[in-house]
Amino acid sequence: MGPQLPNRGIANDIGVPTSLTVGQAEDIMPLGEQKIMSGLLFGTAGTPRSTKEPSIAGGIERVAELGLGCMEMEFVRRASMGEATAQVVAESAVRTGVKLTAHAPYYINLNAREPEKVRASQERLLQTARIASWCGAHSVAFHAAFYLGDPPDQVYQAVKQRLEEVLEQLRQEDVKVWIRPELMGRETQFGSLEELLDLSLELEMVAPCIDFAHYHARDGKHNSYDEFISILARVEERLGRGALDDIHIHVSGIDYGKKGEIKHLNMEESDFQYVDFIRALKDYDVKGIVICESPNLEGDALLLQNTYHHLLESA
Ligand SMILES: [Zn+2]
Repeated sequence: MGPQLPNRGIANDIGVPTSLTVGQAEDIMPLGEQKIMSGLLFGTAGTPRSTKEPSIAGGIERVAELGLGCMEMEFVRRASMGEATAQVVAESAVRTGVKLTAHAPYYINLNAREPEKVRASQERLLQTARIASWCGAHSVAFHAAFYLGDPPDQVYQAVKQRLEEVLEQLRQEDVKVWIRPELMGRETQFGSLEELLDLSLELEMVAPCIDFAHYHARDGKHNSYDEFISILARVEERLGRGALDDIHIHVSGIDYGKKGEIKHLNMEESDFQYVDFIRALKDYDVKGIVICESPNLEGDALLLQNTYHHLLESA
């Protein structure tokens, strides 16, 4: 069964300033006021660089101060957080209206040879999903697997089966979060758009985390308005419009070579056509979360958000 991606009444669109220079929107709603999301939220992968207090709650406060709409909690080394801390995080997210997502540890390979490595991978994903749920986050991005030279079909089946076990455990624990395998940027990594769309169709509560920078890094293409539109159209064709009404996107500038991604860059230092990218998202009326993974984090998140609002206003 394909995923039904309901509009879950994502918080925000709360009238936070749309840019640092334009000032506050006139129709400011009280912080924490829940409203059906009417567009895209932009935010940082982890706490903004300019966060004074180095904690997730501190990062949420800074995201709100900057006028951004969301933040991804980066559990990239290990997923650990107690329930008491999660409560504090959840409260600051509700109070500020900042929408949260989570990123699972990098050390996940659902195609690992050794059963204990598979189990450890599954546990890292499970633990990230539990923490996300305590924090009120509804979407968990993760890097699913490496091919390790195996045929892609075989890897797909391994990933699917092991992911299914994770989903079953989450169902038993009544943890309701979207599990989002990420579109990856290297040829050694499982996670093409079609692989993610197949998994999303076959498994409940699975949807893609679409990393447009990774997609571009795979082959140097997918970097024009028409190509961005064709990606969105493909997602809609296979998963339905709901997938575009609750999207989870990663983006950054990117450096790449023959084997794909080399490293993330700031937008202005890369060839990524971010204005065309934002224009495509706007024209397709995509709604959801855009997490910026450029090294300057909030710098590019604000750049993208300002571009989006500029295009909306001049439409
Ligand atoms: Zn990632």
